[in-house]
Amino acid sequence: MYPSRFRYEAPRSIDEAIALLRDGGGEAKVLAGGQSLVPLLKLRFAAPELLVDINSLPGLDYHRVDADGTLRIGALCRHADLERSTVLAGRQPTMAAAAPLVADPIVRNRGTLVGSLCHADPQGDWASVVTALGGHVVAQGPDGRRDIPIADFVSGPFQNTLGYDEVAVEAVIPAPKGTPAGGYLKLERRVGDFATAGVAVAIELSGAVVTRAGIALTGVGGSTIDARDAAQSLVGGPLTAESIGQAADLAAQAAQPKTDHRGSAEYKRHIVRTFVTRILSSAVSKETQ
Ligand SMILES: Cc1cc2nc3c(=O)[nH]c(=O)nc-3n(C[C@H](O)[C@H](O)[C@H](O)COP(=O)(O)OP(=O)(O)OC[C@H]3O[C@@H](n4cnc5c(N)ncnc54)[C@H](O)[C@@H]3O)c2cc1C
Repeated sequence: MYPSRFRYEAPRSIDEAIALLRDGGGEAKVLAGGQSLVPLLKLRFAAPELLVDINSLPGLDYHRVDADGTLRIGALCRHADLERSTVLAGRQPTMAAAAPLVADPIVRNRGTLVGSLCHADPQGDWASVVTALGGHVVAQGPDGRRDIPIADFVSGPFQNTLGYDEVAVEAVIPAPKGTPAGGYLKLERRVGDFATAGVAVAIELSGAVVTRAGIALTGVGGSTIDARDAAQSLVGGPLTAESIGQAADLAAQAAQPKTDHRGSAEYKRHIVRTFVTRILSSAVSKETQ
């Protein structure tokens, strides 16, 4: 199917992009990698009057670490940039594990992490990773910039809290205060598919003690699930078979899966429990190496 007719603009500055969105009055859409928006246009699930293509905006294709360890990912940083990143290795194990699992190489070459957060697909991998890491999105609009914690940014399935005249300019991951550990595991029916279930675990350690933990779940609810109780149960003690088992059980309880063509609800809950156990057990074996 062909998309509905739309006007296309490719602004050269962020101010110009914001002005176009403002003039669009809610009928305009930002186009980043196009890997979610273009299929929606072709299926006519979306029919904006105006597309504001941000790909010509300078200086948004970065991902970098500040002197204090804060990681910043610009709106035009592609999934593939993160997959090939030398910045993430060692510093951000959860992100490094997720990057090669997002979609397929063709999609990864164009799609962006920030676009994935904006799209807010319950099966989006990055929203879980950024949730586990306690990140936020920086939005820029006519009144300047504001920080939106990821928990407040994703407001439901395919919904975010950006104003119609705001561009998400970057995602920010706070600097780890302890030694970072964790990972991302995803069960997919075939390579490149969306998750049947996915689990992001991000912990920080001081010696053997967990000082911070985040656990988030992909594809097992109406939106990304922040399994806070599971994560909190780990903080303040070492990773033991008992603490890992308890966190895995709490994460499985936090999941709200539905039975569908990808598997039964109980099967998906079982996957969540297994993935939390695997990621945390692997963190223990790396710690003792
Ligand atoms: C075949 C296929 C398989 C896929 N598999 C997976 C998968 O396994 N896991 C996964 O997580 N994703 C998957 N995706 C989705 C992919 O990751 C997309 O790249 C991502 O969801 C959206 O990023 P984008 O840059 O392409 O955004 P676009 O498609 O350009 O935009 C998506 C939405 O976000 C808005 N938006 C984008 N950027 C901004 C911004 N900077 N500011 C404001 N609004 C913005 C757009 O207006 C639009 O509403 C798949 C896609 C395809 C086509």
